[in-house]
Amino acid sequence: MSPKYADIIIDISHEAIDRTFQYKVPDRLRDKLQIGTKVSVPFGRGSHMRSGYVVSFSENPVFEKERIKEIADIYEGAVAVEDSLIELAAFIREQYGSTMINALKTVMPIREKVRGLTRRQVRLLIDRQKAEEKLALYRKKNARAKERLLVELMDVRVISYPIVTGKLNISSATLKAMEKEQVIVIEEEGYDREIFSEEEKRDDALAGSGKECPNAEQKTAIDTILGDYEKGQQGTYLLKGVTGSGKTLVYIEVIDRIVAMGKQAIVLIPEIALTYQTVKRFRKRFGNRVTIMNSRLSKGERYEQFEKAKKGEVSVIIGPRSALFAPFPNLGLIVVDEEHETSYKSEYPPKYHAREVAIKRGQMAGASVLLGSATPSVESYYHALNGDYKLLTLSKRAKEDSALARVFVADMREELKRGNRGIFSNRLQELMRDRLDAGQQIMLFLNRRGHTGFISCRSCGHVFKCPHCDVSLTSHFSGTSREKLVCHYCGYEQKRPALCPECQSRYIGGFGVGTQKVEEEAAKLFPGAKILRMDMDTTRNKDAHEQILSRFANGEADILVGTQMIVKGHDFSNVTLVGVVAADLTLFENDYRSAERTFDLLTQAAGRAGRGSLKGDVVIQTYAPEHYCIETAAGQDYQAFYEAEKAYRELLAYPPFTHVLAVFMEQEDYDALCSFAGRLAEKLTDWGEHTGVRLIGPCDATIVKINDRYRRVIYLKHKDYAELTKIKDRAEAFLERRTQKGCQVTFDFDPLHSY
Ligand code: ADP
Ligand code: ZN
Ligand code: ZN
Repeated sequence: MSPKYADIIIDISHEAIDRTFQYKVPDRLRDKLQIGTKVSVPFGRGSHMRSGYVVSFSENPVFEKERIKEIADIYEGAVAVEDSLIELAAFIREQYGSTMINALKTVMPIREKVRGLTRRQVRLLIDRQKAEEKLALYRKKNARAKERLLVELMDVRVISYPIVTGKLNISSATLKAMEKEQVIVIEEEGYDREIFSEEEKRDDALAGSGKECPNAEQKTAIDTILGDYEKGQQGTYLLKGVTGSGKTLVYIEVIDRIVAMGKQAIVLIPEIALTYQTVKRFRKRFGNRVTIMNSRLSKGERYEQFEKAKKGEVSVIIGPRSALFAPFPNLGLIVVDEEHETSYKSEYPPKYHAREVAIKRGQMAGASVLLGSATPSVESYYHALNGDYKLLTLSKRAKEDSALARVFVADMREELKRGNRGIFSNRLQELMRDRLDAGQQIMLFLNRRGHTGFISCRSCGHVFKCPHCDVSLTSHFSGTSREKLVCHYCGYEQKRPALCPECQSRYIGGFGVGTQKVEEEAAKLFPGAKILRMDMDTTRNKDAHEQILSRFANGEADILVGTQMIVKGHDFSNVTLVGVVAADLTLFENDYRSAERTFDLLTQAAGRAGRGSLKGDVVIQTYAPEHYCIETAAGQDYQAFYEAEKAYRELLAYPPFTHVLAVFMEQEDYDALCSFAGRLAEKLTDWGEHTGVRLIGPCDATIVKINDRYRRVIYLKHKDYAELTKIKDRAEAFLERRTQKGCQVTFDFDPLHSY
């Protein structure tokens, strides 16, 4: 197949990315052009030579053949950072399936005017000695908010306004008062201002808040990476370190050296773990050479940050998945922290995995890639044991007096036999009482995505379902308003009916345990305890998430009840008990990764206990104590978990042993969807037969309807990833030829969840 025409984008001047121009492919270039190839073309009235990139091919001209110009040549110029990003986009298109335009949009931020945003920051005006005096005064007056802000400012001097009012939960009245006292000033955010003056740096050093010294294990990890790097052996490393073992210090030390060599570094952090504490540590070391990206940035702001990266104004960028595409011209290192996190996979096409793309970008740029986790993904650990990645281990907590928690497993079946019908096992109740008496804090963790169970009629069993989706509605209370029934998939809401529409019974109730229920029960058992709850209902507002966490950190409550949102990242030194109320909730999801996810959540939850000098306990409540996932999590034994999980994945042919391609289809008309899926399955079978691809389906997705659209899926399995991409290519070409009305098809390689 040698294409006659190529669609080309001229100059990646970001806003024009959607606009392509068709050119003839001259015979001599027929076999040399690929998607992503940089070419020289005559452009405009004067036919001046411009460079452009091939984004697709076609057989037919879009208008009169005679008027279509010809590609002059393959571009032979210096390779700019854009070129390598385009190559990366071509890789993403090939590996994950999508159009080149969509892949380009993934790697290139769209240029957009930054609206006249006034970004503000809070700056400390007084020197360290004066600050110490003020601090003593605030403490005496019990002015806790002022004290809190001052402590933070003494550390870094300047903090952006949204963080002060959000994560630190300081009111504007407090800020005004402190401004009046001339302790702080609220000013326009100056990006390029030196964050630390020389004097301030000396101040910090004198106060002992300078560098932490790496311990022996950290040092080995750092030296290995840098030693290889200096020898020109850039590779991929897996840093496996228990919670609290000090992985961040390893990142910082390695980055420090790489930056000193004139290189740049990208640090990927899952959004949920992008805590103020982490950011502060990087700020302290790298000052204004580091920039933070978060998902709240507008497209324009993201573009602006990328421009600074390109111009060399910053050396380190920290952010979620999309920070991977920062156009650093001299990239030296990519860190992927919490590499097992599912948020590294894009939920939109192209459904790329940032870890895999990071490794590709590292290879292209000659940069090392450092993956870090307490509970590595089965894939990464498999590669590390294979020798594809170098394994580095941190086996103990970094702080001298901090040890891993004791873990108890409470068998809820036994509790029931002994007549305990409550939510809390005897062990958990006892330990809660003990901690409340000692004035220590407790976290109660419900292993579930933030909502209560479904609502049904207790008399006839009628379940209230969403009219647009094939799911049951869940119950919500918001503030003082009446109970509502809500759909978590499309947002549909209705008032909770007083009577069952089927049998007119008044006995309508929630089923299953939710965070609200846990809060109620805890309040009943311990009437004196102050309780905070964090779930989807209490975190609707922007920053609510951080505010709840910082209130808890400040000791404003004894117990924090929450969903998995509460287990990541934060370091509460006064928490000495973590109760996992129902460990099984994510274990029996119909999904090959549910055990891995549950193990990770239980390990992270256990990692929250005893971060400070006080000993920590963890209680895992379960109905399946003999499940390997619960057993190994209770023993905090990753290796044992991995062995069991590996055997299971190998047996049932799941990644990393076999690759899976999910072909997912959506359409409003169920019958049309079924017949289309059937035809596509036949084609896929034809294309894959000779290579031994296994096809499963088509079948209905687990949730067959969402938002009035029906959903079906086909799975393809093969040991060789490339065989699956070949089939995907043929499927894409097929889909392009026959525009199936209203049916949307997406590809998902090695999906992280089942459909
Ligand atoms: P991880 O990311 O591995 O869970 P962190 O990087 O958050 O661990 O470190 C846990 C705690 O240990 C932090 O409070 C950090 O300041 C501290 N820490 C890390 N390394 C050292 C060290 N070498 N000496 C003393 N404290 C350390
Ligand atoms: Zn009924
Ligand atoms: Zn719905």
